[in-house]
Amino acid sequence: MSKNPPIFNRLALIGTGLIGSSIARAARAQGAAGSIVATARSAATRKRVAELGIADQVAESNVAAVQDADLVIVCIPVGACGAVAREIGPHLKAGAIVSDVGSVKGSVLRDMAPHLRLTGDKRVHFIPAHPVAGTEYSGPDAGFAELFVNRWCILTPPEDADAAAVEKLNAFWTLLGANVETMSADHHDLVLAITSHLPHLIAYTIVGTADDLGQVTRSEVLQFSAGGFRDFTRIAASDPTMWRDVFLANKDAVLEMLGRFNEDVSALTRAIRNGDGDALFKHFSRTRAIRKGIVEIGQDSAVPDFGRAHPHLPDAPLPRPYAADNE
Ligand code: NAP
Repeated sequence: MSKNPPIFNRLALIGTGLIGSSIARAARAQGAAGSIVATARSAATRKRVAELGIADQVAESNVAAVQDADLVIVCIPVGACGAVAREIGPHLKAGAIVSDVGSVKGSVLRDMAPHLRLTGDKRVHFIPAHPVAGTEYSGPDAGFAELFVNRWCILTPPEDADAAAVEKLNAFWTLLGANVETMSADHHDLVLAITSHLPHLIAYTIVGTADDLGQVTRSEVLQFSAGGFRDFTRIAASDPTMWRDVFLANKDAVLEMLGRFNEDVSALTRAIRNGDGDALFKHFSRTRAIRKGIVEIGQDSAVPDFGRAHPHLPDAPLPRPYAADNE
């Protein structure tokens, strides 16, 4: 049992896939909430969440889930957030904090905020958030309590947000192990367009291009995928619904970064065509230093090949020149 006093009496999670179920597990492990109620769109997911026992209660609807909740976190694809905010808005407890985990923040703010405005004396605090942590797996079985440890959680409170509510949400994510940063929604979307959204688009493209090469080549693609391609296939396995919504919701920033990327690909194309080895070497040295920096600040492991287990060579007799005479 955790020795931390709960930060919220009642936590409601709407959507219990990878992220929602990880929050449930982490919040319970850390005693961040007095009780946890979870719900999901489908009966199948709600049943699975109940079987896993990761929430104190599984609600049959979004409206039922938010009753009396002090913190409501919407953990569903960004394209669906507006409709859910409209549905739960009238049923929120006065003083409740509503947040989300969406990978795009401008669209979430635009779609959710109008339904979470103050009505009469009922004040609700809306503070969007994005835990920058995940895997390529989906669903309640994929979650784990340690997902957020030493990962960033970016809060994008509106300018008029209540400072005490922001502080409370910050404390919640800190207790779950995250490093919390605050920035504007627009800035978040620009930064994530280059660090996350564009890499996913490139992975989706490369894996698709390789697949388009045809049946014969395709088998070779699979056979020889131990090169860089294999790491792209991991990213390209990410959830299609989530990523469709991300690109539609962050269109402007992604197109801006894609434009820059295309210019840089053209420069490298020219260097290869012209046999400009110096330009290539300079560019690759710069990117190698960036990778080193990411490892140094603890955002990735320094273990070679991402720590993949490698098989050992079978024991074999030493070749004659090295073997002792009696072997
Ligand atoms: P997930 O594992 O696929 O779970 C999605 C959850 O949302 C499920 O409970 C699903 O319910 C529900 N859902 C799907 N469509 C819905 C709709 N139209 N209306 C209401 N509920 C709906 O997804 P996830 O990876 O947890 O992602 C959830 C959010 O976290 C997304 O906004 C994503 O941008 C963000 N995020 C993801 C990652 C990552 O790496 N995966 C990282 C950071 C942030 P059913 O199971 O009943 O269908």
